[in-house]
Amino acid sequence: MAPTSLLTAIDSTSHVHLIVGSNPLAAARCTKSIQVGARPLLIAPETADLHYALQKRVDGGEVEWLKKEFADEDVLRLGREEVDGVVDAVFVTLGPRDPLSKKPALEIAMTWHDRRRIQEEDHLANSSGVEDEESIDQTASFNKLVTEADLDAAKNRRIRWLSQICEYWPLRRLAAITDEDVESVLKSYGSNTSVLDSTKGSAEKRGRIILAGSGPGHPDLLTRATHKALLSADVILADKLVPSGVLDLIPRRTPVHIARKFPGNAEQAQTELLELGLAGLKAGKTVLRLKQGDPYIYGRGGEEYEFFRKEGFEGVIEVLPGITSALSAPMFAGIPATQRGVSDQVLICTGTGRKGKPSVPPEFVGTRTVVFLMALHRIGALVKDLTTWESEDAIVVTADGAVDRTRRLWPKTTPCAVVERASCPDQRVIRTTLEFVALAIESEGSRPPGLLVLGNACEALMKGDIGRKWVVEEGFKGFEEFGAMGVEELVLGENKDGRKVL
Ligand code: SAH
Repeated sequence: MAPTSLLTAIDSTSHVHLIVGSNPLAAARCTKSIQVGARPLLIAPETADLHYALQKRVDGGEVEWLKKEFADEDVLRLGREEVDGVVDAVFVTLGPRDPLSKKPALEIAMTWHDRRRIQEEDHLANSSGVEDEESIDQTASFNKLVTEADLDAAKNRRIRWLSQICEYWPLRRLAAITDEDVESVLKSYGSNTSVLDSTKGSAEKRGRIILAGSGPGHPDLLTRATHKALLSADVILADKLVPSGVLDLIPRRTPVHIARKFPGNAEQAQTELLELGLAGLKAGKTVLRLKQGDPYIYGRGGEEYEFFRKEGFEGVIEVLPGITSALSAPMFAGIPATQRGVSDQVLICTGTGRKGKPSVPPEFVGTRTVVFLMALHRIGALVKDLTTWESEDAIVVTADGAVDRTRRLWPKTTPCAVVERASCPDQRVIRTTLEFVALAIESEGSRPPGLLVLGNACEALMKGDIGRKWVVEEGFKGFEEFGAMGVEELVLGENKDGRKVL
């Protein structure tokens, strides 16, 4: 009997994983290795063009890059001391045509315990189908001679399908695979439906542009629609703010371009992305324009819609919503934007107007929750605008240029919260009042992106600590634990006096 493969789970904590190559597959491998607690060692010559995600990890110190060609001895030399330098795992991410991948030291096995089952399915499908009750209607392949080429094509299809499953099923799910899972997966293979619900492969391809929001940060906050778009797009154009957890979900072979937006370059970066989108559309590609949060909330999504419409692509633009940080960040900080008897309206506004100018501050309304995006860099001026008539930026004037004294001001005691990197592992919340918020940010430093929530809703569920000027809460607890989390379980930072607040 031919031996079958066995899918095993290994505790890889502090294992050394040798990753040979520099392409998107290498990047995905490194991500996986890091996720399981292993130490990825990348081997690629200095001249290699590293995949962006890989370069990011190398720059961030998460992945060590040995700038050299692979040599057989590396496998016996670069591992942990406890195991005499033998590396725990080697991943070859070079194409099959690369002579290196033929090295005997680099053979890798397929981790699928029912590989033969799939081969058998293929064989059945290829030989006839007469034994299959459902194929009473004879298919085109009925009784057709099975050639070598057919078998080769089937093999390629099989490997591609298997790698899709391995790629898209989370490791936890793969490790817990049951016979029933295998059964249903095989059924989907037999019926020839893609695991991806992909729109690829239709005969005449028409270009499409999808403007989609990717949510505030955590990949679980993607909508299914955006996730599908992410898996089926031919090319992805992403904003700089799109978090790496989301980028990690992009299939390895999909080209990704990330906007090089940095201060002073925002306009060029935006133009560059639009041009790339246009080129993709004209080439008949499905272009995914991936934005952070929701595309139509300060995401310039409307402008982009207009751009593509003007270029004559109106019929092929699709806009997918995203969970906006404006409403989810307060939630992850335990702040209900509306709450009966506390807040009956929410205002989303920006702290920065067009061309970097300050925006007109919203009036005080006692039952209003205001969420300010893009505001923390000028928090001092914003607080002044909200709490006094003397605006630092001299924008709060009436039509005749006089200071507008009819505007209702916000009391300095109004509770507020700074929520940064909401839903990301390094989420931080600072609870304070308008009086101390600028000071708090000055002493704690900023961790962009972040926003300000203002209004009594900030204290609807989480009471501020009387006697403290501000309280800092670190970390995002995930979804399961979040509901049960009490404020005392949070790791708190230091207050103004340098006292640990625990
Ligand atoms: N379209 C996005 C907003 C883009 S404007 C959305 O709907 O969320 C960028 C601003 O969004 C940042 O300056 C910051 O104020 C806010 N922001 C984005 N992501 C955030 C996050 N994870 N936590 C807190 N604020 C965030």
